[in-house]
Amino acid sequence: MGEMAQFNLILLGPPGAGKGTQASRIVEDYGVPHISTGDILRSAVKNQTHMGLEAKRYMDAGELVPDEVVIGIVKDRLQEPDTANGFLMDGFPRTIPQARALDASLADLSRDVSRVVAVLVPDDELVKRLSGRRICRECQTPYHVYANPSQREGVCDKCGGELFQRDDDTEATVRNRLNVYAEQTEPLIDYYDEQGLVARIDGQQTPDKVYEDIKAAIGPPE
Ligand code: ADP
Ligand code: AMP
Repeated sequence: MGEMAQFNLILLGPPGAGKGTQASRIVEDYGVPHISTGDILRSAVKNQTHMGLEAKRYMDAGELVPDEVVIGIVKDRLQEPDTANGFLMDGFPRTIPQARALDASLADLSRDVSRVVAVLVPDDELVKRLSGRRICRECQTPYHVYANPSQREGVCDKCGGELFQRDDDTEATVRNRLNVYAEQTEPLIDYYDEQGLVARIDGQQTPDKVYEDIKAAIGPPE
């Protein structure tokens, strides 16, 4: 399969913008694997691996896990055969060094980033979304206690898994995560603008409408 057929997509945006919510839809319709460094790190925390124990301190404080750790995770993940025709990165890259490392890893594989979808939402709305967020322990689908509740309280509609609140979705940690985003991650929009890759999406609309806009930006699934 030629390079043009690949679909190497990055979902960018502040915590709470709806990246995970949209990722579920995109991976289903476009058939690319969902690569969420946050999900991978939370799974390492749950399994109490050495990396997980290291990462937890940063995550609970709302700080970024060191670049070399997450870059290592993504490099390993890109070796897996399911990424051959494309991927959806969610929550990576989050710093300029991570973006450079991704560009270099993809270049080694004769690939590149196809499109960057930036989902944008103002801070006050993000705080509301994150403080009401619940996540499925089994399949990681996000819900919201008011805006997007599951049909049965505490139970995932998709897989029946238990819903829980993330340790870092407390108000103080959320504020810090938004500051970290503004300082370290937002500059990536300029980084990818220079490559002409960014589609800006208004994330303050219903999930259906956000998804319509994303499909219009990246082209409909085959
Ligand atoms: P991210 O992955 O970007 O951190 P999530 O997809 O987990 O964000 O969404 C954060 C919270 O906001 C969740 O509780 C989710 O149910 C809710 N949410 C997602 N998209 C929307 C939307 N368009 N409108 C209102 N709430 C939303
Ligand atoms: P997320 O699930 O994307 O909101 O990520 C949750 C937490 O995991 C972040 O607040 C960071 O502590 C850590 N994390 C996830 N992805 C990255 C990344 N690309 N770089 C550094 N830290 C990350």
